[in-house]
Order: sequence, then structure tokens, then C-alpha cells
Amino acid sequence: MAKEKFTFQAEVSKLLDIVARSLYSHKEIFLRELASNASDACDKLRYASLTNDTPNDGDGNFKIILSVDKKAKTLSIADNGIGMARNELADTLGTIAKSGTEAFLAQANGNEKDDVSLIGQFGVGFYSSFMVAEKVDVLTRKSGEDKSWLWSSDGRGEFTIEEAKRDSCGTTVTLHLNKEDKEYMDEARISHVIKSHSDHIGIPIVFKDGEREETLNSASALWTLQKKDIKDEKYKEFYHHVSHAFDEPWLTLHNHVEGVLSYTNLLFIPSTPPFDLFTPERKTQVKLYVNRVFITDDCEGLLPPYLRFLRGIVDSEDLPLNISREMFQHDPRLAKIKTGLTKRVLNELKKKAEKKPKEYDIFWKNFGAVLKEGLYEDQTNRSKILEVSRFHTTKSEELRSLADVITNMKKGQDAIYYITGENLDMVRQSPQLEGFRSRGVEVLLMCDPVDEFWLPAVANFEEKQFKSVTRSGTDLDNIKADDSKKGKKGKDKKSTKPIPGMDKLVAALKVSLGEAVKDVTISDRLTNSPVCLVSSEDDMDIHLERMLKQHNQLNETTPRILEINAEHPLIAKMATIVKGDKESSTEMDDAAFLLLDQARLVEGEALPDPSEFARRLSTMMERGMD
Ligand code: ADP
Repeated sequence: MAKEKFTFQAEVSKLLDIVARSLYSHKEIFLRELASNASDACDKLRYASLTNDTPNDGDGNFKIILSVDKKAKTLSIADNGIGMARNELADTLGTIAKSGTEAFLAQANGNEKDDVSLIGQFGVGFYSSFMVAEKVDVLTRKSGEDKSWLWSSDGRGEFTIEEAKRDSCGTTVTLHLNKEDKEYMDEARISHVIKSHSDHIGIPIVFKDGEREETLNSASALWTLQKKDIKDEKYKEFYHHVSHAFDEPWLTLHNHVEGVLSYTNLLFIPSTPPFDLFTPERKTQVKLYVNRVFITDDCEGLLPPYLRFLRGIVDSEDLPLNISREMFQHDPRLAKIKTGLTKRVLNELKKKAEKKPKEYDIFWKNFGAVLKEGLYEDQTNRSKILEVSRFHTTKSEELRSLADVITNMKKGQDAIYYITGENLDMVRQSPQLEGFRSRGVEVLLMCDPVDEFWLPAVANFEEKQFKSVTRSGTDLDNIKADDSKKGKKGKDKKSTKPIPGMDKLVAALKVSLGEAVKDVTISDRLTNSPVCLVSSEDDMDIHLERMLKQHNQLNETTPRILEINAEHPLIAKMATIVKGDKESSTEMDDAAFLLLDQARLVEGEALPDPSEFARRLSTMMERGMD
């Protein structure tokens, strides 16, 4: 077959730009990435030959060989792993298969510092070779096939593939080094990079110079060593290897579990969230090994989806080596490991939350929204997850636990109050919070989309019901006002003192608003605002409805209850006017709809008829100026 030319997917070219710009001072990691790929390829072949779907035509002695050609100014990384078929070459080297790439690239802003952390979350892989090479050749032969292929590119938008010759299966990546990157021909330099980034790789990495072979790494699977013999640096290096990341692990969990089912886990929680945390395709990225043989990095049954931020490996001697894809989801032994790992992770989170609350807040900001998915997905661990959950509240800027909130409950308060919304700034301004603030009642502020889903599923914590402040039936009158605020406004007597004309006003508003509202009531939750909207106890929460509408999952709008603040001067004035029967009904209608639209605006809702609103407002202003 003749040489064929291909163009890189547009994303690849963009990625190469970012890599070149942001990783300029981390160039040496290209070697770590290529060694990782080579080791993965050997892992894959070892597993494939065990399950027999790919014959191993290599000798089974896996090895990664580095060699230099000083004349040609090249560095080669060769493995005897699984290799790539022609279509795999064209599909994988030249495209980016990761979902969420587009969104990721859109975030890059040309600022070197920002881009380093971005690219770190993304993982650079093979493309990092273009940081040091003006041309890259990949000579490969897939295990079990007789044809070999040469992929070649200068990283400027195009690559070629042609038939070539390679004696056995595996891949050789040859880098034609840039003038300024000639240091990567130096054995000492190469050795240093391998020792500092790839020492733990379980396959020997050898520097070959003629007949001389020098093994550069210690080639032992890190997780099989005793904890006490592993330095933090080694853990970090291993984390970088499994995650292709640059950050520090926020938490390292290395355990050996003996029992009916024995296994070792070496798991990490990253300190920065990966770019694809919320893309629907993201699954667990923890690698499964059986007795040190890599099995898969895509094992759904190993960890629950709400722990998908974990990286690392799990190795068990008690699973069969030929464990199949179908078994990943349903094997009872895997289910057991999953239960054990989940428990361990949640326990560690609890410890950290108690002992190092400030550090824990970092974790929570990164991954809290993911962990909260467990509140509705995993009933067994629900109370454990609630214990380690943290919340913004009306009390302070600090994150608070539910235990904190319960300790801070007021006399007569029997529920944990919350409000949901798009963002903190907006919910903090909600008029529905006024009465709670004036009574010193702490309210949870929830702004993650997932909150709308777990709250109805969870219903209560330590026998305290979760109640939305944007719903009717909050029984605020049972709660005593905060001592410090008592007297200032004297809110708790409010509903016991009937205000003359108020009932008439309520009736008039109901007539004017008709179907536009479900009801009009006198509020016990407002202190400063004249009106607000709440949903009735059996209707959908206001914010949830808005969210579903934004995602086109809902068309109709549920009419809300309009609550009025009987003590607000405007409302009080209206009550006297209604009593005196001075207003004609169009004026009452205008006033009623202006109040309703005002409440909608504060909710962040679009007005159903903005031009009517503008007309009413102008009329009202004109009248006011007369
Ligand atoms: P990643 O390793 O994160 O998937 P890379 O860009 O490093 O991303 O590699 C892309 C793909 O190319 C790999 O997933 C693998 O399928 C293939 N690949 C890269 N290097 C090798 C190799 N040495 N042997 C076999 N396949 C390889």
C-alpha cells in the first residue's frame, strides 16, 4: 500500500499549540508519557495473551528499550507490547478520543500559567513528543498481524502512514530531536528523567548502547511494596504516571486487604479536578490488575460513579486472570471489592474532614458536587456521605457540616432549611430568606444542579427534615426570633396581629391575578421585600422547574403562591386603599401584576409579558408624578 496522507483533527493542532506553549519548562515529561504508553502496551498484550483473543507473538519478556542515534540525532523508545494496526494508528494518533475535549480547549486562554494546570487536568500523552522533536516516527506492528506500519509527522497538521518492516510486534517511537533539545541524547540525562518520573514502572526500562544494556528503573510494581518503604515522592510519581497529571495527590490511599478476598489498592484523590469530571461518558479511571497483570482501566463494577475522581490501581490475587468484560459489571467478588473500597474512601474522607477541615474544604470544592451524587445513588452509604458533606449557609462564608447546622438550630426549629439556585450570590439575595435571617435561622445555600435531585430522595438527616424556604408550610412562626434581633423588628408576633384591610387586599389581588397565581397569602418569611413567590408543598420547587425548562425537559409553568409582606409600607398602603375602595379595578390589576412581576424578577425568572410590564410601570410612574 502506498504512503497515505492524513490531516490531524483540528483539536489536535490546537492541543499541540497549548502543549508547546504551556509545558515549555516541563519538556522532559515527554519521556514519562512515552514510557507510560509503552508500559500500557505491554500490559495490554500480557492480558490479551492470557485471555487468548490476541496471540502473543513476542517472547513474553516485556521490556522498554531506549536508544540514541547521535548521527541521525534521534532518540527511540521501543516496546514489545501489543502494537497498533493500521486503522488504530490512523484513529488514535491524529485524533483525540477523549470526550469533552472541545470544552477543554475552549478554556485555554493563551496564558502560560493557566494552561499548565489545564493541560495537567487533560493529560498530554503521545503529543508531548512534539515538544522536543521536529519529526516523530512511529513504527508499529500489532500482535498477531503480519503487516507493520510507519506513522510519521512533523506535528504541523498532517501525518502519513505507509507500510514498513518490523521484526516482531510492538512499537518504536523515534524522535528527531529539535536542535535545542539535544540533551535528550545524553544517557545521564535520560537516566535521570526515567529515574525521577518512571522508576516504578513494572517493566524494565533499558538504555541500549550497542551491545551494552543498562536498566534504568527499579521495575517493581510500586503497590506491592510495603508502605513504610515508599517515599512520598514515589507515590507522587506513580500518581503522575497513572493519571498523566501534574498536580499533587490530595490524598493517597495505599492498603492491603487480607480476607476471603484479598486485594491491594493504591488510590489517589487529585488536588485539581480533571477536565472531564462532568462529561457523561466519564467512568471510573482506576486500573484493575489481577496478580500484577493489568486487566482494564474501564471496569464499571470496581467503584461507584460518584467516586469517579479517584485515580490509581486495584490489584487482586483472587480474581481470575481471564475475567471478562461481562463479569466487570456483575461479578460478586468485584462487588465485594467495590463495597470495601467505597467504605474505605468515605472513612478516610471523614477522618480528613475532622482532622484537617481546611484541607478538606479544598477537596469539597473540587469534588463535593460529584460525591453528592452518591446521596441518591447509594442508599447504603447515604448517611456516611451526609456526614462528610459540606454546605454554604447563611451563617458565614465558611463551609459547614450538617452537624454544625443542627447544633445551631433555634428553639422551635424542627427542620433543616435550604434554598436552591443557580449561584451563591443570587440565592443569598433571595427575599424568601429574610424571615429566616431575622430569626437567626441558618439556611443551607445549594447551588449544584445535583442538589435538586438528592434533596427529594434524602428527605431527612438525624430525623430532621430538609425543607425548602421557597415552599409554603415552613412554619416560621414556631421559631423564636433571635434574641439579638428581637425588639428591632419584633417579627414573631406578626401574624397574630391582623392588619385592617389586609384580608381585603389579599382577596383583591387574587381576583386581579386570577390564574397567574395559585394563591395569595400573607407571608411570615419577608421582612424587607414587599412580595415573594413560593411553591406549594406538593408542587415542584421553583428552581428545579426553571432548571428543567432550561434543559427543555419541561414546558408548562406551575402557578406559584404570591406571598405579601403585610408590614411593608407599600403593601400596608395598598391595604388602606382597598379598604377605602378608591382604586378602580384596572389600577388594582396593574398594581397586582407589577407586584407579581417584581417577585418573578427577583427570582431571576423571565417575565411572561415584558411589554405589558413596561406599560404598567410607565403608567404607574406617570400617576406617581402627577
Ligand atoms: P492515552 O495514553 O492517554 O490514551 P496517548 O495520546 O498517549 O493518550 O495515546 C493515544 C493512544 O495511542 C493510546 O491510547 C494507545 O491506544 C495508542 N498508543 C500510544 N502509544 C502506544 C504504544 N507504544 N503501543 C501501542 N499503542 C500506543
